[in-house]
Amino acid sequence: MSKLEGKIALITGASRGIGRSIALRLAQEGAFVVVHYGKRRNEAEAVIHQIEQSGGNACAIGADLSTLDGIHDLFSVLDDDIRERTGGSGFDILVNNAGIGQIVSLEETTEESFDEVMKINVKAPLFVTQQALPRLKDGGRIINISSFVTRVASPSVFTYSMSKGAIDTFTHLLAKQLGNRNITVNAIQPGIINTEMNAGTLQDPHGQKYAAGLSTFNRWGEPEDVADIVTFLASSDSRWVTGQLLDASGGSHL
Ligand code: NDP
Repeated sequence: MSKLEGKIALITGASRGIGRSIALRLAQEGAFVVVHYGKRRNEAEAVIHQIEQSGGNACAIGADLSTLDGIHDLFSVLDDDIRERTGGSGFDILVNNAGIGQIVSLEETTEESFDEVMKINVKAPLFVTQQALPRLKDGGRIINISSFVTRVASPSVFTYSMSKGAIDTFTHLLAKQLGNRNITVNAIQPGIINTEMNAGTLQDPHGQKYAAGLSTFNRWGEPEDVADIVTFLASSDSRWVTGQLLDASGGSHL
């Protein structure tokens, strides 16, 4: 039997990049996947199409996570879709993945740039999780996508790194709070992954050399490298693992 048969997973920011790969992987393991997207509806529908072509089940919901109204809209549609598609209520797996990158140093930081990155990378996961908790089944899973920059100090991405530091603390707090519901909460800290977020770096030969050289394996990461770890953390195989920050940077911190 597939590892996630009968489970329902919500993945934020699954229209592309790491989130897309997580959606495909969890669906492959039998989960019904809710593919959340921000602006890119066509990409989200392409993910649904790919899942259905492989015999899986999924639906797409668009919502701007930068506002509480957008987050509330996501959950009201989610409730209806889950009832309609599965006949039940609630879900099992939440992956807080949606986020933005921002190459801004301390000196370049403005109130606007600070608010922008905190809004999507910190405020959104907090309020998405707040809405998710009453709907999340006991024995469920929360997986937060942090970053290796919370281990490897990178002043060129100053407030971005601070935003992911908040996600690490959020993970610890939630894990403590949700143990009595048998819900595990863990974070993954990817290194440089081949997504649109790094398009600038990975198109440039110097950037490629830098990105590959960070890892002890002399390559940068692919979204699937992260999705496979999410699959483990989403399954019952990880039942005794909670409150952990898993480095997924190919040893970039060594
Ligand atoms: P991408 O830029 O490829 O994708 C970002 C996703 O987030 C998209 O699906 C996008 O939706 C969604 N999103 C962004 N802003 C909003 C918003 N305001 N409302 C709703 N959805 C939004 O990112 P990655 O796949 O590279 O990154 C995914 C996560 O992994 C992020 O949290 C990132 O910080 C983290 N990470 C990434 C690393 C990397 O090297 N790529 C390294 C370490 C961590 P849409 O396109 O539909 O608008």
